[in-house]
Amino acid sequence: MRIAIVGAGPSGSALAILLARQGAQVTLFDDGRRPELLVGESLVPAVIPILQRLGLEEETASFSRVKPGVSFIWSPTDRFSFSFARFAPGVFPYAFNIPRPGFDDAMLARAVACGVERVVAHARLEPATDNGRELGLAPETVAAAPTLGGRQPDLVVDATGRARLGARALNIGAHLGPRKSTPAGAGAFRCRSGCRSVSYWAATTPPDSARARPSASSGPSRPTPGCRRSPPAASASRRSRRTPTTS
Ligand SMILES: Cc1cc2nc3c(=O)[nH]c(=O)nc-3n(C[C@H](O)[C@H](O)[C@H](O)COP(=O)(O)OP(=O)(O)OC[C@H]3O[C@@H](n4cnc5c(N)ncnc54)[C@H](O)[C@@H]3O)c2cc1C
Repeated sequence: MRIAIVGAGPSGSALAILLARQGAQVTLFDDGRRPELLVGESLVPAVIPILQRLGLEEETASFSRVKPGVSFIWSPTDRFSFSFARFAPGVFPYAFNIPRPGFDDAMLARAVACGVERVVAHARLEPATDNGRELGLAPETVAAAPTLGGRQPDLVVDATGRARLGARALNIGAHLGPRKSTPAGAGAFRCRSGCRSVSYWAATTPPDSARARPSASSGPSRPTPGCRRSPPAASASRRSRRTPTTS
């Protein structure tokens, strides 16, 4: 199957890796753009099994900080803290705080190592049927990807996040929330009752609970045949970017 994914953020790269492992011919369009401040640096424990499935946990750990818990701070005297281990085994006992640009680069590098064709281009989508319900790549976008051979792919995936490229092409509206977030955007914590900030405990080495890496049921953390280890993130770097501060 020939699949085009538009957007090389975490969603696009993760899907590209999984599809390439299944034998799909994947073309990943990356517009090469990143805002100066790229948010999304604080991962939750539920992401760890996904990193393991992608074979990216060890690499992520090598440039990230282990996060064993969370504090919600309402005021200097009003704070609520908990460790993830408290909810084990239902919840992974740790997560990571990642430098987001490096994380995106590592995911993209792994996708390329898995055989995904990365095309650096600002893709354009357009309705592919008369009823306007299906998406296709615009002609110049097809032409930008040599492996498509001038033909439309079997499947187009919109992974452009808040850019909502596919929804815009099909004239599907969205409601802008009070924090200017759209459904495709942030799942960030909302301070409903005036809380000041959310902070994360950070440790430079994993706590004992984190060292006891989860069992095989969560998937292998070794590389899957056909996917080489990612080259250093710098070699996949698309642009120089500022490391974001913790939200
Ligand atoms: C204020 C805020 C705080 C957040 N904090 C956290 C957090 O602490 N932890 C957390 O896990 N998440 C956080 N998030 C959410 C996180 O940023 C997103 O969930 C994540 O970035 C979504 O990934 P994605 O791959 O879907 O989209 P994106 O990361 O937006 O990637 C989409 C990619 O598509 C590219 N693109 C767009 N249009 C085109 C085009 N036409 N052609 C080619 N490429 C294109 C873009 O350049 C981009 O690289 C936060 C979000 C916000 C707004």
